[in-house]
Amino acid sequence: MIVHKFGGTSVGSPDRFASVAEIVLAHHSPPARCNGPTDAGITAPREARPGGDGHRKGATVVVVSAMSGVTDQLIAGARAAAQGRDAVYRQIKAELLSRHLDVVEGLLQRSSRRLEVGGYVEDQLHELERLYRSIAVLGELTARGRDTVASFGEHLSMHILAALLRERGIRAQAVSSSDLIVTDDGHGAATPLMEATRVRLHARIAPLIERGVLPVITGYIGATEEGVTTTLGRGGSDFSAAIIGAGLDADEVWIWSDVDGILTADPNIVPHAGTLTELSYVEAADLAYVGAEVLHPKTIRPLVRRRIPLRIVNSFNPTHQGTRIVESPGADRRVLPAIISTTGLGMIAIGSCDDTWTLEMAARALQRLSESGLEVLMFSQSLSEHNLNLVVRQRDQDHCLTVLRSAFETGRRSPSPSGERLGEGGNPFRLGVKEKVATVSVVGMPGWDGRRNGIVSRAFAALGQHQTRVIAVAQAATEHSVSFCIPETQLHDAVRFLHRQLGLEDEVTS
Ligand code: ASP
Ligand code: MG
Repeated sequence: MIVHKFGGTSVGSPDRFASVAEIVLAHHSPPARCNGPTDAGITAPREARPGGDGHRKGATVVVVSAMSGVTDQLIAGARAAAQGRDAVYRQIKAELLSRHLDVVEGLLQRSSRRLEVGGYVEDQLHELERLYRSIAVLGELTARGRDTVASFGEHLSMHILAALLRERGIRAQAVSSSDLIVTDDGHGAATPLMEATRVRLHARIAPLIERGVLPVITGYIGATEEGVTTTLGRGGSDFSAAIIGAGLDADEVWIWSDVDGILTADPNIVPHAGTLTELSYVEAADLAYVGAEVLHPKTIRPLVRRRIPLRIVNSFNPTHQGTRIVESPGADRRVLPAIISTTGLGMIAIGSCDDTWTLEMAARALQRLSESGLEVLMFSQSLSEHNLNLVVRQRDQDHCLTVLRSAFETGRRSPSPSGERLGEGGNPFRLGVKEKVATVSVVGMPGWDGRRNGIVSRAFAALGQHQTRVIAVAQAATEHSVSFCIPETQLHDAVRFLHRQLGLEDEVTS
């Protein structure tokens, strides 16, 4: 049995949903109805093991994310509601309604399922608006409320995809992962309770597989034992697929995204970047932790124990082999280092106007951001500047400023050229956005030219030669990966230069 996970860009439009249905059709083989030849003329063996544990060969489980950008919008709406900005959340609700109804109309126009799925979409968005209204009345967004709001996107795409697959003749059934993945109550980044989850998966999903039904499951979402909705962290659908794969002892887990696997560099920057065809679990985890967008860092762990291979494949180019991640890669594989870059980041500085900034204040800033579900990708505490520099996603930037303002504001606020001044009298703070930044990480691989340990100094030398302005550096203790924070404007040139200087141009084209 294979778990196929489709990310937000893979279901970003009616056409993309249709491509996903094609991919599923190509991979899923329903069970033989009798012992004779199947419709395809091949004798299909019944592979079900005694006890019906969901192991049928050719069986497929689908895990699906929200349409691209939908989770961002849902959360933006909840934040707007908490600030009493009614027009903003109403507008978001209207946009989400029309985007999902367009998909339903586009895909199911001639089908009797159109009304049913369209009705579901309308009901869900009506419910979302009700939720936004209650957040507005309370004037506060709790972590629990944020997770409930964020869970709407996956439910919508799950229902649409299941209906589309049924339309194409597959016996698909939508199943919410809030009934399957049991987590603690760490809202925003909940931890799965694997044993309880395994029991649920075997009780609810294995019997469907045995009956030849294809389960279409929401990514990203779980629930506590008491049934309170949680989420596994942004980008967490990959993690969901791994949890489900491990819980059901899948043969493989496939992550369908929009690039040809894990590459030597972002193909939008280096169009001829090469694919790393085979990686070990450890290598893939290293790459994911420094920000390889195609793989959520928590994905690897559930698979390691059960030695389940993971593939990263491209739904826009489904015949490409992509990247295969296994326990021990073959000796003849091609080993290359990788440059991982992340854009869309901003640097915020919070500090004191005088020399009263303390570590306690830095801790307060980080704690408040974390409580508000905001991720800080990198930070540096500059003693000479009396401030804390924080790298956050630009989509979160305004909200970070709001949270920090309320954490440090003690009185009147007055704008100043170096950002706004908060507080009055004895305790003045400075808060502002410094600039748009990007991160670039270089990760070495053992065996690459025997130079794994040289990768860090080579990366420093290359950026120095290129005169890249390095704002902050973080180096892994293992000394085979290093991350730089640089101005966003220098990113493209710096990555291309690094790709050349590390000798990757010749490697990927040879
Ligand atoms: N929809 C969620 C997010 O945008 C989860 C995912 O896409 O993996 O973070
Ligand atoms: Mg992702």
